[in-house]
Amino acid sequence: MSITPDFESLGRHGDIVIVGGGLAGLFCALKLAPRPVTVISAAPLGEGASTAWAQGGIAAAVGEGDTAESHAADTIAVGAGIVDEAVALGLAREAAPRIHDLLGYGVPFDRDLEGRLAVAREAAHSARRIVHVRGDMAGQAIITALTQAVRATPSIRVLEGWSAEALLTEGDAVSGLQLRKVGGSSTPVLIATSAVVLATGGIGHLYAVTTNPAEASGQGLAIAARAGALIADPEFVQFHPTAIMVGRDPAPLATEALRGEGATLINGAGERFMPALHPLAELAPRDIVARGVFAEVAAGRGAFLDATQALGTRFADEFPTVYESCVSAGIDPATQPIPIAPAAHYHMGGIAVDQHGRSSLAGLWAAGEVSSTGAHGANRLASNSLLEAVVYAARIAEDIAGREFAASKSRIDPAQVSRDDAHDLAQEQSLRTLMSAKVGVIRERSGLIDAVRTIAQLERNAASPALANSATAALLVATSALARTESRGAHYRADYPTEDPAQAQRTLTTLAEARARAAEFSSGAVILPFPTQPQTALV
Ligand SMILES: Cc1cc2nc3c(=O)[nH]c(=O)nc-3n(C[C@H](O)[C@H](O)[C@H](O)COP(=O)(O)OP(=O)(O)OC[C@H]3O[C@@H](n4cnc5c(N)ncnc54)[C@H](O)[C@@H]3O)c2cc1C
Repeated sequence: MSITPDFESLGRHGDIVIVGGGLAGLFCALKLAPRPVTVISAAPLGEGASTAWAQGGIAAAVGEGDTAESHAADTIAVGAGIVDEAVALGLAREAAPRIHDLLGYGVPFDRDLEGRLAVAREAAHSARRIVHVRGDMAGQAIITALTQAVRATPSIRVLEGWSAEALLTEGDAVSGLQLRKVGGSSTPVLIATSAVVLATGGIGHLYAVTTNPAEASGQGLAIAARAGALIADPEFVQFHPTAIMVGRDPAPLATEALRGEGATLINGAGERFMPALHPLAELAPRDIVARGVFAEVAAGRGAFLDATQALGTRFADEFPTVYESCVSAGIDPATQPIPIAPAAHYHMGGIAVDQHGRSSLAGLWAAGEVSSTGAHGANRLASNSLLEAVVYAARIAEDIAGREFAASKSRIDPAQVSRDDAHDLAQEQSLRTLMSAKVGVIRERSGLIDAVRTIAQLERNAASPALANSATAALLVATSALARTESRGAHYRADYPTEDPAQAQRTLTTLAEARARAAEFSSGAVILPFPTQPQTALV
């Protein structure tokens, strides 16, 4: 196959390349201005990013009497014993300045009558600390404001409709990025660069039931792993307990803030089931609520979110996005309970990064959901992800600011380029079904082994780079889920239902290790847990 690296039209000498047009990518680009950067986004800005769909808002201890220490303590408590405490405190402390940056970029956060930032309550937060916009419009308002700011910044060039499919390296250093036009020619294109910031979001679309956009299919995680980057905690996937089940993919989300306002969870018989499962009932940590909802659905009783008493006629004004999702499916949430199920929502794992956002590869940084900073541990505290995205995007910009990067002479090796036979939808759909069934809310050994074998085969044989990358990301999740023989946070093993203090460490792994594990599983050998490595392994 002939390859035409269109270097002239895409590459600009000395540019820093940011992959991703969500909060992490756009904020990093703005923070780097006036330094020239190229932002690459698979979807047009404002679309195909989880950021645009965020409903709750950003956690920040800016309310009266609240403190960063208390915010960090809540983060640590929810993370089930493996949150990096210094990281959690750093995140909480940098929340206020980053919120002010966002105000400066034009995000219209809600204010109270005295003009102070209004703060809402969400699950497992000990204080009202979610900064929001018009109830549930935070994500849309953030992406709109940042897109306008980016488009008005001359140093930022935006390439929309291009998907990154491989990271090129020389030794342990980044030397280029291989892209392909989304839905266009099958010819890949190279940008030679020594500095890449991956901000490609999460992996939710690897699952059949998810709240994430189709672009969240683990491409960024996979290309970093294929280039040899260290990956952290891939087994920890958070399932949102209240995705609205009206036959849409992705499933619309009923924000946690609804439960913060007093909405309850009931089964088909109208009985509340959470008080029996946790003292905080509907405001218990997400994994516990997700398993509660899952159990009602699995038992055939059905699960519903009932806001008829708590909100009633206020629903439309206070939660316009959720209201619209329900009404368009013929449900009036002011008077009727909303049918719900758990859906893959957030990936705590990702590319392992240090406090500057640096990965284990020289010249590769990662920010936002594609990264794993150690802030979330085994379970994310609600509304900490947008916060993590802005805090680390800003730190990366600061880390990059003083550096000069040597020109890269990278070229695509035609022998290495696989064809892009129109992404195989049938295989993608079976991967998603497999992930939901066997690597989902409730996992156990035999299902995980089946999943690992099937995914490893798909990874080897996938025709398109996109499908191969999805399989790579799925393999990292499934092999680590199999190796973690305990239940912790969002990772629940029916065959190991309790925490094992001996496994109270983060997972640090590589794709080579995951593939070796998959080969062992396939040969039926005895499986040992991954060895854990200290965070200092990062450069
Ligand atoms: C429905 C929903 C509600 C949420 N609510 C909240 C909330 O209230 N508070 C909170 O803190 N968090 C919330 N989250 C989580 C939060 O929105 C995300 O974690 C966060 O927005 C991630 O930001 P990001 O910039 O890392 O990724 P994203 O916003 O997902 O952006 C990723 C970008 O990368 C691009 N991309 C992906 N792959 C490629 C590729 N291979 N090549 C080129 N471009 C690529 C995408 O097109 C997109 O532009 C919510 C998530 C969802 C799905």
